[in-house]
Amino acid sequence: QQNIRRLVLGNWKMHGELAANAQLLSAIRSGWNQSSNAAACDVGVCVPFPYLSQAESALHGSDIAWGAQDISRFDKGAYTGEVSGTMLADFGCRYVLVGHSERRSMHAESSDVVADKAKAALAAGLTPVVCIGESLEERESGRFLDVIHAQLAPVLALGSEAVSRMVLAYEPVWAIGTGKTASPEQAQEVHAAIRAALVAVKCPGVRILYGGSVKAANAATLFAQADIDGGLIGGAALVADEFLRIAEAG
Ligand code: PEP
Repeated sequence: QQNIRRLVLGNWKMHGELAANAQLLSAIRSGWNQSSNAAACDVGVCVPFPYLSQAESALHGSDIAWGAQDISRFDKGAYTGEVSGTMLADFGCRYVLVGHSERRSMHAESSDVVADKAKAALAAGLTPVVCIGESLEERESGRFLDVIHAQLAPVLALGSEAVSRMVLAYEPVWAIGTGKTASPEQAQEVHAAIRAALVAVKCPGVRILYGGSVKAANAATLFAQADIDGGLIGGAALVADEFLRIAEAG
């Protein structure tokens, strides 16, 4: 295993309200402040757009970064409802998810659009967390590695300099929010294939997160795999103690 710094990133999805967020952010901040693992692992939370300002005030000056769950391909203009990278940077975001499976499936984001969004994030000085992963049908058909390579292709085509500033997240769609986690071996098989693709573009040190029903109980075993460099955490990121225990395993 290379010595790659770990990253545990929460994805709140469309959850939250001001009062509950304040408690969650403050509990994560004080818990992580006391953790000895902060030296080895980066931690962040990707919150809904309206709460970016709240995340910025609550986490400013801490070891916890914050970010958004989507970004526009465009920097400004007549794109009603869209949010640009420059706007996210204005609120101190470090990370932005791009190509989450929920956006690919419910908002018809193609891999080309996802690559454009990754490029827009980099142009704004943000770290795009590019999500890829196969559906249940694609897993069962056995052609899941082809799907992964096809999703990666337009992103890798952005070139080594761009790719070296990204994070990738492997999230099998059948494991997201279902309580079904990929086994450590299933996850590692895909992570190893992604690593080989990164090595081929001379970016071996890019972090590859695993996402899909990660909990405190399974995090350490997943993170012990050679090519798993941390996690993208959905449901479990909404409970401070659970999220902190996952970060502790990172
Ligand atoms: C996610 O939303 O990226 C995710 C992995 O969700 P969950 O942990 O709830 O499966």
